[in-house]
This record gives sequence, C-alpha cells and structure tokens, in this order.
Amino acid sequence: MKEGRFFWGTLALMLSLSAMFASLLYRANPSSLWIFAFMLLSSMIWYIIDATRQYRGFIKTTTPRYIDRGRHEGLSELYDVFARAVRRADLKKMPRLCVVSMHGFDAFMFKPPFGSISSIGISTDMLMKLNLVDIEAIFGHEIAHLRMERNIFARCALYVLSSAFFWFGAVWALMISAEPSLVDSVIGLSALLLAFFGYMLDIAASRRLELACDAYSDWLTRSDLMGVTLEKISPKDGKRTGLAGLLTTVSCEVFKMRSHPTLEERKAFLKELGA
Ligand SMILES: [Zn+2]
Repeated sequence: MKEGRFFWGTLALMLSLSAMFASLLYRANPSSLWIFAFMLLSSMIWYIIDATRQYRGFIKTTTPRYIDRGRHEGLSELYDVFARAVRRADLKKMPRLCVVSMHGFDAFMFKPPFGSISSIGISTDMLMKLNLVDIEAIFGHEIAHLRMERNIFARCALYVLSSAFFWFGAVWALMISAEPSLVDSVIGLSALLLAFFGYMLDIAASRRLELACDAYSDWLTRSDLMGVTLEKISPKDGKRTGLAGLLTTVSCEVFKMRSHPTLEERKAFLKELGA
C-alpha cells in the first residue's frame, strides 16, 4: 500500500547532482554558474520525460482496468463499496477506481504525471483474496493517502533538501581534503549530518503516515477491520537468508529503515487507539 511517488526520487536525484556540479563549478570559477542553470533545466526536462516513461511502463506492465459504475459486470458491487467510501470521505474530486494485474497483495494511490485525477488501484490477487468488507477497509487506507497528499509534497521537499545537503557535504569534503580549516570541516560535516537526519525524518514520517492511514480507515468504515484485513494480506514467511537478509534485518531493526511499519506495529497502534 504505497502512494505513487516514484517520480519524485528521480527529481531529487537530478537536483542533487546539479547541486553537486554547481558546487564544484562555483569553487572553480564563479562565472561558470550558467552551466548550473543549464544542468538544472536539463534535469527538469529529464524529469518530465522520465516521469512519463515510468508511468507508461507501469500502465503497460499492470494494464489497469478502470471500473466505472454499471459498466463492468460482476464488479458493480466493488464499485459501490468504493463509491460509498469516497462519499464518506467527502473528497473534492472523485478518484477513479482501477484493478491492476499484478501478483501480490497490493493497493495504491497514483496520479498520472500530467493529470489531475487520482486513481486508487487494487491488485487482482488482493481482489481474489479479500471479501468486500475487507476491501472497503483497504479503500479507506488509500483514500487517507489521497487526503494527506500535501504530506507527500512536504516529504518530497524534505527528500530534495536532504539530497542537496548530502552532495553539498560530499563536495565540500572532497575539496577541503588538502588542508581543511576548522570552519570548512564543520560546514562539510554538518551538511552530511543534516542529509542523514533528513532521510531518517522522511522514513519516520512515512511510517507515521501509514499508521495514520490505518486509523483513518477504521474511522471511515466505522469498524475496526483494518487490523484483521492487514493480517490476511501480510506475508507469513518473510524471512530472508544470506547477506541480503542480514542487511535488511540490520537496516530495518536498528535504523528502522522501512517506509511501512510491521504488521505488529500497525495492529498495536490500532489497538491503542481503540482502547
Ligand atoms: Zn499506505
């Protein structure tokens, strides 16, 4: 259950790279700042091309089928459940509902790069596994993501800022290696630390956001079904072995580097709210 933010990473990366080159150029020759402007412009153009390309790729591999009222036989009940949840949430714009062909239990909210209408998608596997009552809980979670869209922009800003700080710090560190003054070292180190702090903040925000969306779903559906539904779709044998498994465990358990909380955390949070 993730929101469609795969475009933003590219933008952040391009901006950071531009910032890095700008720092390098600026130090070398202040008048060559126009190259920075050029890089920024080309990274923006690249961003638009890449966003469109990624969106097309997503559409091509998952072939989303948009569900409209009364048009799809056998799916009108699904549409009614969706429409009821959207009505309750009192959204300004009616999102579209779509079914995407993909393996695994997943649902998400996404927006085309140039479109203003968001879509809420649910995977075919999820549709087979869950009943309509559970699906309403899932819709509630995704609608919450839609309502909290502004948070996504705030997080993107944080991401871009972190990346800029990172490159700034890295470049600074590279350039002061010969004879660093105390001020230079402090500036470089602070930039790197700020970058790390920004990334951590982003992950923490993402985890809180997921919990908030779960809680919103229970409120919207006037039930306490989100926890039960989550249990039904959570992988039972998620253990990984080897180096990849070790790295995942360390990053998840020690640094909490995961955008989504664990099933246990999500259930505990809902229970705490309900108590
Ligand atoms: Zn989510």
